[in-house]
Amino acid sequence: MAEVILENINKHYGTKFHAVKDFNLHIADREFMVFVGPSGCGKSTTLRMIAGLEDITTGVLKIGNRVVNDVPPKDRDIAMVFQNYALYPHMNVYENMAFGLKLRKTPKDEIDRRVRDAAKILQIEHLLGRKPKELSGGQRQRVAMGRAIVREPSVFLMDEPLSNLDAKLRVEMRSQISQLHRRLGATIIYVTHDQVEAMTLGNRIVVMRDGVIMQVDTPMNLYDFPQNKFVAGFIGSPSMNFLTAQVRNGQFYVGDSHVAPMGRLAQSLKAYEGREVFLGIRPEHMGMVGLSDIPQGNNVVRGQVVVVESLGAQTDLIVDIAGQTVTAKLEGMAPVEPGDTIDLLIDQTRLHAFDTSTELAID
Ligand code: ATP
Repeated sequence: MAEVILENINKHYGTKFHAVKDFNLHIADREFMVFVGPSGCGKSTTLRMIAGLEDITTGVLKIGNRVVNDVPPKDRDIAMVFQNYALYPHMNVYENMAFGLKLRKTPKDEIDRRVRDAAKILQIEHLLGRKPKELSGGQRQRVAMGRAIVREPSVFLMDEPLSNLDAKLRVEMRSQISQLHRRLGATIIYVTHDQVEAMTLGNRIVVMRDGVIMQVDTPMNLYDFPQNKFVAGFIGSPSMNFLTAQVRNGQFYVGDSHVAPMGRLAQSLKAYEGREVFLGIRPEHMGMVGLSDIPQGNNVVRGQVVVVESLGAQTDLIVDIAGQTVTAKLEGMAPVEPGDTIDLLIDQTRLHAFDTSTELAID
């Protein structure tokens, strides 16, 4: 069993800076857990504490049911893959992968078995004799993974392992890492600031801000049920739109337009009657309607097009609605130009609302 448990973990740098605050998390055996959040939020610090590369100021860390706060990194049954996967330039791929095991005095035939097994999984068997300078970026990244795999750890810790690769290769390696997780049956803790990587790789995702966990959930729950405005804005691309709206007669008013929530939100919004809230609408939940299709006011908001960004399969419109700017993501091409007045039909079933002072979801 290789569950990883963090209980009330805190990290202080010096006396002033509190980098990780009361971090509580239970990572299940074989789970793929992703830490995501903006730069400086404490993702790497947390991962480095799990690795044993950084002291834990207070709190308890358990790996596989053993408290490991004071266990040196090499005895934690973990392997780490970094962003800078510095390979030894004078060694070939085989030697790079074998090096750590040699240091541990692993028998030669055992080293050979593990290196060849890992090379097979990673499909780099044909590269074993090459030096790092004879490899592409993606191949080097695979060798770095190989170095971790040969150690056969229960837990892999990965810190932005794909961030040095170009966009196309990142997508390719992303699906490889996902397959690798299934094949290895290991626990993986993966740090990234890229929400697409987080959404596609994680069984669950920890969204962090300023050293604090904002939400831990499955990718789909983060998308459908963000618990606060920060998570709502962080997950999804383009980001969720937030409009300052007045609640009147159980509806959201933005200028003269109004939108009626449905289901649970309609119920919980009663407590906000007469007040201001942040109305959250994802760009993909706004569609364009012809002026004559639907009468104004029926979950339709009118605005002026500010920018049209055509991406071929999708068009992003930046629209001004009563002085507030939103992005609408439409399928295909949109026959509009900046300056046009358009009507956007809002999907009433996908509305979000947030308290303006606590920024917590109203649901
Ligand atoms: P990034 O995505 O940019 O790598 P991160 O979320 O991984 O960011 P961390 O590297 O964990 O962030 O850093 C968290 C905070 O702790 C940052 O504000 C950083 O400046 C600070 N920090 C990190 N290491 C130290 C250190 N050795 N001494 C003081 N402050 C540090």
